Amino acid sequence: MYRANRAKMSDSQGMIATMQLDEEQRDRAVGALLGSAVGDAVGAGYEFSHPAQDVVVDMIGGGPFDWAPGQWTDDTSMATGVAAGLSPGAVDLDAIAAAFIAWYDTHPADIGTQTRSVLTHRDTTAASMTARGSSLSGRTGGNGSLMRTGPVGVAFVRSDDAACAQAAGDISDLTHSDPQARQACELWSVAIARGIRSGDRSGLRQYLSERDADVRSFWEPLLDEAESGAPSDFSNNGWVVHALQTAWWAICTADGDVVETIGNCVRAGGDTDTTAAIAGALAGACAGTSGIPSRWTDMLHGYPGWTATDLRATALRILGEDPVNTLGHS
Ligand SMILES: [Mg+2]
Repeated sequence: MYRANRAKMSDSQGMIATMQLDEEQRDRAVGALLGSAVGDAVGAGYEFSHPAQDVVVDMIGGGPFDWAPGQWTDDTSMATGVAAGLSPGAVDLDAIAAAFIAWYDTHPADIGTQTRSVLTHRDTTAASMTARGSSLSGRTGGNGSLMRTGPVGVAFVRSDDAACAQAAGDISDLTHSDPQARQACELWSVAIARGIRSGDRSGLRQYLSERDADVRSFWEPLLDEAESGAPSDFSNNGWVVHALQTAWWAICTADGDVVETIGNCVRAGGDTDTTAAIAGALAGACAGTSGIPSRWTDMLHGYPGWTATDLRATALRILGEDPVNTLGHS
């Protein structure tokens, strides 16, 4: 269905408003945001640890920042900031920059190094924030933009891939001026959009195969390694490249099962809340909400005083769907 609509889609500003989403597609869009948030909240209790393979992974809270059970961390807090600037097929980068600063001003305990280095200057426009990011030197490829990119795939589900990738890359650039961080966000966001349309994670590989040769030659061997390797092969998962590999490994090893995907991320160790948030976005986009335990979604909460109900409503808003007529129930 999506392929058939592509020509029409590019007629009006790269997007089409008339593509009808069915109930399963709407549910998968909600699944993208909830899957990421439950991954974040589960992973938060295990951050920087390496649980044994037989540990039962659950939404226990704790961890280095002593989270309440079900409380999400900076990954989801920043994703709500991304969503604040999204509407169906469009992005307002200034609104996202402002939302990031509003969150920064709450003095979050768990802010990434690179994100802090940018937001501490409290730039008030996207242009100045992006320029600030590009002025940083040293290691600029942290995983902090990939962890928050899930809403982009939701908002651009009716758009062509180029528009989705452009938005994802520009949002990444606000804090992470790094070509690999940008490309990771482009690839993952389009994979999420395709996953919502189809229920299938193969969109990541398919979209990558359509990219320029330099992008393909960098990422395809990394995905190969994630599919055939082990977490020890990509253990530096604070780096966006290893974070994406860990997430892809977790999803493929679990064959898309959301709970297993999140458990895999936790057992892979390292930056567990972030790898689980990244993986949970794509796994949730493909599996939908039925793949996410309600006892987890019922416990979810975090900045800005939200619960799963607010994430669900946000997914439907940026999707352009009326929550009353679709999935507004909790
Ligand atoms: Mg976090």
